[in-house]
Amino acid sequence: FFITFEGGEGAGKSTQIERLATKMRAKKYDVVRTREPGGSPGAEAVRHVLLSGAAEPFGPKMEALLFAAARSDHVEQVIRPAVERGSIVLCDRFLDSSRVYQGVTGGIDPAFMAMLEQVAINGMMPDMTLIFDIDPAEGLKRATLRRGSDATADRFEKETLAIHQARREAFLAIAAAEPERCIVVDASADPDTVEDVVTATVFAALEA
Ligand code: C5P
Repeated sequence: FFITFEGGEGAGKSTQIERLATKMRAKKYDVVRTREPGGSPGAEAVRHVLLSGAAEPFGPKMEALLFAAARSDHVEQVIRPAVERGSIVLCDRFLDSSRVYQGVTGGIDPAFMAMLEQVAINGMMPDMTLIFDIDPAEGLKRATLRRGSDATADRFEKETLAIHQARREAFLAIAAAEPERCIVVDASADPDTVEDVVTATVFAALEA
């Protein structure tokens, strides 16, 4: 079973994935927790390039190709083998982040993005996607508190509120278009409330 977690900055995905993984392990589920960009040694190397100053000269198309390259490696090295041996894979960001960040706000043609997506995932569609929804102003406040003055704070957070708002709309549009896969979680609630919603949603799907 393959579950992905999506949403804008500061939505609390990482915290919730960690809590969910702990609860699942207590129930004896075999859980693999991973993230994008990254998740395999090769993809983590690409992540480092993408999220550091080294990516400055790259155009949006090159970036989209690199995100896809990293995803392909992550799928084949980590996700598919884990799902095939019966583990539950929890992945922090996946294809919807590319549709939104490289596609909608990166300006890459949707047909090109759709091709890249197919090549990268090679059939590995998530069984369930939780979209963490929060007002970007609130999310950015949280993200800034979390990262503080960390010099490695990535360049993706130095963007206008309008861009973050466009991403929120894009995630919600994906959820509306694919209701059988996507569930929107109100991420503005306090972490314990969000945890209850996430736990109930995921266990209902697993135990169905
Ligand atoms: O999950 P997290 O917020 O730590 O992701 C790291 C950064 O990578 C984010 O700031 C996001 O803006 C960026 N990203 C991206 N395109 C993706 C996935 C992540 O621009 N497909």
